[in-house]
Amino acid sequence: MTSPIPQQKLAELRAALLAEQQELADERERLMEAVRAYTQDSEGHGDYGDNPADQATEVFEQEKDLALVDALTARSEQVAHALRRMDEGTYGICEVCGQPIPIERLEALPSATLCIRDANNMRGRA
Ligand SMILES: [Zn+2]
Repeated sequence: MTSPIPQQKLAELRAALLAEQQELADERERLMEAVRAYTQDSEGHGDYGDNPADQATEVFEQEKDLALVDALTARSEQVAHALRRMDEGTYGICEVCGQPIPIERLEALPSATLCIRDANNMRGRA
């Protein structure tokens, strides 16, 4: 089975995916730097015992950033996955039911590898 998407459209969607991958990488790098800054800060001063409230805030901020990093990593894996499917020629075909994914959906969400119905089913199970 080959991708049902016309070459021209495929090129556009690939460009969109590559741009998204770059954006996600930049954002991830920015967050990682923020997390590293927290860590260096705590090592440098060693004064966590003095102010538990500050410590709690910093740990919270750091955990929030790490959760965002995880989310960005998951998104960029999904984008990479979609790009791999493009290379394999299976992009635009639902991974669950094997039906073509409507082009409107791919334009709205180039990293989609499931049709709307199966994406909703997945969410329901999660
Ligand atoms: Zn499907």
